[in-house]
Order: sequence, then structure tokens, then C-alpha cells
Amino acid sequence: MNAQSILYGNETIQYEVCYTPHRRTNIAVHVHPNGSIQVDAPDGRSLTEIRNAVRKRARWIQKHVAEANRQREHLLPREYVSGESLFYLGRRHQLKVVASETGQSVKLLRGVIRVETQSPSKDAVKKLVKAWYRSRANVIFERRLEAICNSVVWLNSPPAWKLLAMKKQWGSCSPKGVIQLNPHLVKAPRECIDYVIRHEICHIKHHDHSPQFYRQLTQLMPDWKPIKGKLDGMAEMLLNE
Ligand SMILES: [Zn+2]
Repeated sequence: MNAQSILYGNETIQYEVCYTPHRRTNIAVHVHPNGSIQVDAPDGRSLTEIRNAVRKRARWIQKHVAEANRQREHLLPREYVSGESLFYLGRRHQLKVVASETGQSVKLLRGVIRVETQSPSKDAVKKLVKAWYRSRANVIFERRLEAICNSVVWLNSPPAWKLLAMKKQWGSCSPKGVIQLNPHLVKAPRECIDYVIRHEICHIKHHDHSPQFYRQLTQLMPDWKPIKGKLDGMAEMLLNE
């Protein structure tokens, strides 16, 4: 990553330039939910060209940064009541809590996460939602691990893995090569899930963040940098319980 800035009016706009071999034509500007600005550019574009692209979109950027900051002020602990939004695979879904006589369940239907419970207290709903995330994470991570491992020539079989809730990390890899994935990651877009899985798979071979590790990662996922940037920009929101 490469930190740059321009002056626009009285304000400094700071942004990170992310070169990506896969992007062929356009320079794309993203404002992340944490208010940070990421500019994806094809390899070979000069910083001046990128600066001009940022300047052209400066007003749009300011508007979106202001909006992200406004949203973050509302980033309070959740109440787990109807109308709140919950992330799942990178999208916001509305929570709907329904008091039920018969039993409890969590279902995702047409963009709504519907929780039925006999006691719709905050703690009870939170517990059910958490368990639902874990069960979705189990299914989706298993599927993605298998698909990704099939395309890694130096792996004979998918590695052992388990869920582990972590405060600041999306994944880890033990010295024995067991991968641990944070269940909160299931709230992130699919490409971000794939990025974390590929990152941890590379740790099976390289247990550090050495240049060899990054070479391996880039081989498995040439455009991992902007995807990591996206995930970093969403982290605060996704980890908010
Ligand atoms: Zn790592």
C-alpha cells in the first residue's frame, strides 16, 4: 500500500494506492465504511494520473467520507431488535424478531434474517443470531476451503480447520497447519472470505509474513491487495457484535 494525499478546498484527502495486476483499464476509488479511501489502479499508472483521477472525484469522495463518518457515529452496540441491520456475505440484511409460542429458529428469507423465539430478549436473540452465524460459517468456509484447496497444486487434501471467535484477527494457522477462521468472517463479502482462506493456506508452507509468503499468496490470488483493503475497511463494522 502506498499512502498519498491531495489538497481539495481546505481539506486534505488521504488515500491508499493499491496497484493490482488484474485491473486493466480503470482507476477505481473506494470509500470504505471506516472512512478510509482506497484507489485501485492497474500496474504502471503514474501517481500523477492517479492523483488526477482522485481530484476529479474529490467531491464525490468527500460526500461518501462524510456519510461513512455519520454511519460510524451510529455504530453502537446492537440491541437485537427488529429493523436493525446485520451483515451476511457482505450485504446488509434486516433483522426481524418474532415472538413465537412454538419454538425457536433463525432463517434468511428474501433479505430478512427472521428470528423466532419464545423470549425475544436482547440476550436470547443475540445468542440465536450468533449460533446462526456459526452454522453458516461452518457450511460456507468448508465449501470454500475445499474449492480453493482443489486449485492449490502443493496441497494433497484440504487442511484441518475450525472456527475460533477472535477480536482482531480473521484467521490463523497453527504450527501443525490447522487453520482457524473467525466466524465473524461470514459477514464479509465472498472474495474477502476467499482471501483470508488463501492467506492462511499460504501459512501452511510459510509460517511468517516473509517475501516468500507474499509471493505464494500473490500466485494464489494476484489481486489480493484491494480485497484485503476492502476487508480492513469493513472490519470495525463486521466485528461489532
Ligand atoms: Zn498471516
